[in-house]
Amino acid sequence: MKREGRMYDRYDRNIHYLRISVTDRCNLRCKYCMPEKGIRPLRHEDILSFEEIVSFTRIAVKNGIDKVRITGGEPLVRKNIVYLVQSLADIDGIKDLSLTTNGILLEEFAGTLKDAGLKRVNISLDTVDPDRFKEITRGGDLDRVMRGIDAAETAGLLPIKINCVVSKSSDEPDALGVKAFCDGRDFKVRFIHQMDLGTGKYAPVEGGTGGDCKKCDKLRLSSDGNLRPCLFNDLSFNVRKLGAEKAIRMAIEAKPECGTQSARNRFNVIGG
Ligand code: SAM
Repeated sequence: MKREGRMYDRYDRNIHYLRISVTDRCNLRCKYCMPEKGIRPLRHEDILSFEEIVSFTRIAVKNGIDKVRITGGEPLVRKNIVYLVQSLADIDGIKDLSLTTNGILLEEFAGTLKDAGLKRVNISLDTVDPDRFKEITRGGDLDRVMRGIDAAETAGLLPIKINCVVSKSSDEPDALGVKAFCDGRDFKVRFIHQMDLGTGKYAPVEGGTGGDCKKCDKLRLSSDGNLRPCLFNDLSFNVRKLGAEKAIRMAIEAKPECGTQSARNRFNVIGG
């Protein structure tokens, strides 16, 4: 339903936040997100082009979206990502344009992303112990992430928010280390309880609004063009088949009151 240029679902939630996953590929293999050998990548022709993403977003913004986050997979591995950021930043009506990244390539990209119009970044960091980082990400180099974080700060991609996935609680040693690091640098930290989409295991994000269905204001566009109204539900509306307007309308109308479970969604495709 639309009122005064804003979109509301059946539960009177104002839907104004679009998360766009731009790739299913990633340069890390976090244990809770990706299988060790990776995934069979989507075919090139199944992945939305920049033109398709921008044209979809323009229509979404016309309908009431004013907050956009780019995610993945790892968004910085998508070729010419800076060009996409610039094209999205040029859309009138987006108040908040951000990107979620694992930080590995941020040292290289932070300055140009800022110049392209990106406002801020969320960086995933589950531990500040280099060996644990290697273990959790199956080979990742924590030093590169730390240099990426420095580069984001220098570039002014602020406020920097850190996403920390915890397996049981935010009191576990890795999480406490991340909290101390964030407190020392004045970064906001959000603890995300490890989820299982298949069984519907999820919990509210500590320090954020995710995971609280009553407050959910999101639609998610996957890299293969499926618009999903809920992370924990298999409902999806293909924007190529339906067109943007219809896909948005159907997704909002079908948005469930609460998440249940999803057999089809995968974090690396839908972006969390
Ligand atoms: N590659 C980017 C990154 O690492 O931030 C963006 C995509 S990643 C899928 C987005 C977020 O989802 C990350 O913060 C990641 O930690 C989180 N995530 C992935 N799998 C998860 C799971 N099973 N439970 C909770 N969060 C998860």
